[in-house]
Amino acid sequence: MTRVLLTGASGFIAAHILDLLLAHNHSVRITVRSQQKADALISAHPDKAHLIDVAIVPDINAPGAFDAALQSHPPFEAVLHTASPFHFNITRSIDEDLLNPAINGTRNVLAAVKQYAPSVKTVVITSSFASIVDAGLGLAPGKVYTEKDWNPITLEQARENASLGYRGSKTWAEKTAWEFLEKEKPNFNIVTVNPPLVLGPVKPYLAKLETINTSNERIRDILTPKAAETIKNTGTYLWVDVREVAAAHVLAFEKPEAAGNRFFVVAGRFSNQLIADIVKKDFPEYAVNIPEERLPLDGYPAESDAFYNGDNTKSREVLGLHYRSLEESIVDTVKSLKEIGA
Ligand code: NDP
Repeated sequence: MTRVLLTGASGFIAAHILDLLLAHNHSVRITVRSQQKADALISAHPDKAHLIDVAIVPDINAPGAFDAALQSHPPFEAVLHTASPFHFNITRSIDEDLLNPAINGTRNVLAAVKQYAPSVKTVVITSSFASIVDAGLGLAPGKVYTEKDWNPITLEQARENASLGYRGSKTWAEKTAWEFLEKEKPNFNIVTVNPPLVLGPVKPYLAKLETINTSNERIRDILTPKAAETIKNTGTYLWVDVREVAAAHVLAFEKPEAAGNRFFVVAGRFSNQLIADIVKKDFPEYAVNIPEERLPLDGYPAESDAFYNGDNTKSREVLGLHYRSLEESIVDTVKSLKEIGA
């Protein structure tokens, strides 16, 4: 048993991480924004509730946000930091809504670990393909992204629009983490998990169809009559299932050989059209929503070199990850969306 802190536990990905941590009998303090979210998570795990305790962190951006959460007896050995804004609704500014919480949130966690939890050996950070991809290369036929690639986006470019704002927030949050390690030389090591678009089943005790998590919106939209007008352009062409992303977070601190690495957890390429094709085949009740007309490029053959790909060798070799198929992921996602009213 390891004592673990999991930030942003009510998120789409974190809820799957919590399942795995409890299945491995780790003792977990979750951070959430409200007691209501904590109650939903605890009620969903009646047999393991004794392994969960709660710290309310209303805003990861606030100075000292994690100071109280990191103080624990018995002390923590691992911290998994998933909390970060993933949406494109700018109500104040890109700095306030995206960049500050992502960057300061990461710095706040690391500073609190250093000061209050010297027993922590590993901090696992949910980074992103957003920190790897170079949007300037476009579809980049033949390019294979790996952990060695870094998004060259500047903070000025990140302030141009919400999409660049999100990518900049992930890139600069991850840079902040590696710089912290170099400058502060703490006792712990860092591992980052860098997924592209994460698809997969939602938890019915957390998710609502209208406010579904950002990365599953495209599947929800294909199930609704709106899709009959057009299937949206795919935009980003690499995907991974949430259960592989969750497994990577847990293996990242359970396996000592993971220390100090970035892991690009990527299952392969996909398109919105391919998702629609799977929905049509496996859930014919939604076929009426799906337009006949196919989008250019979007029905591409899987072996096509028309655009970039991703290399998952390191995650398979070091973490031992196995990646499930797009069809399995979509089928399980649609089943979960049906549970909440799709
Ligand atoms: P969710 O939106 O479901 O989860 C985000 C979590 O962060 C939620 O728990 C949210 O709390 C919390 N959060 C956001 N802003 C704040 C804040 N200011 N203060 C406190 N808590 C905050 O998204 P995902 O589960 O998809 O994302 C989890 C992580 O994975 C993020 O770091 C994201 O960047 C990363 N990621 C996701 C990908 C994807 O395709 N899903 C791809 C690559 C990386 P609340 O629920 O209360 O709002």
